[in-house]
Amino acid sequence: MTIDLKSLIRTIPDYPRRGIRFRDISTLLTDPAGFGDAVERMVSLAPRDIDLVAGIEARGFLFAGAMAARLDAGVLMIRKSGKLPGPAMGADYALEYGADRLEMHQNSVPKDARVLIVDDLIATGGTAIAATKLIESAGGECAGAVFLIDLPDLGGAARLRDSGLDVHALIEFEGE
Ligand code: AMP
Repeated sequence: MTIDLKSLIRTIPDYPRRGIRFRDISTLLTDPAGFGDAVERMVSLAPRDIDLVAGIEARGFLFAGAMAARLDAGVLMIRKSGKLPGPAMGADYALEYGADRLEMHQNSVPKDARVLIVDDLIATGGTAIAATKLIESAGGECAGAVFLIDLPDLGGAARLRDSGLDVHALIEFEGE
């Protein structure tokens, strides 16, 4: 039986602000068959010979951990600013209004390690591109990116592909 993953994702209008349709995956996460199926299908889209799966805080962690265990890879935490206990390195990126920063621990990516980037959703791509910069500045190789959801109208997946990355997503939603 094929599970309709899209139907397990809830859309909350005007969250976190007016005009945004928030794609809420908490309803997919609490569906045991749905979550398992999403992870299996994301794993099937991943390139082989991955050393690390980089999960982007916070919802990316959920998929990155489950996928890494299936890919015999480690998990790399890419966190919001100020959350990591050890010496960290960061990359700044622009948001629609303002800026933000992602960080990871120094020395957490061995030189030439093949790293897969994972998040729940790609919109403008700013977050994922900042993650690729971090990984590459540490000497790792970005081997691809897998998302549960793509919002193609915002162009992030296309931007990532233009930078040479292999990009996949299971589900698309129109609009923002
Ligand atoms: P972006 O950097 O624009 O690609 O935004 C991607 C990040 O913002 C991901 O970590 C998503 O979890 C979150 N995000 C952006 N837009 C939405 C949305 N419409 N619904 C849920 N999460 C979103």
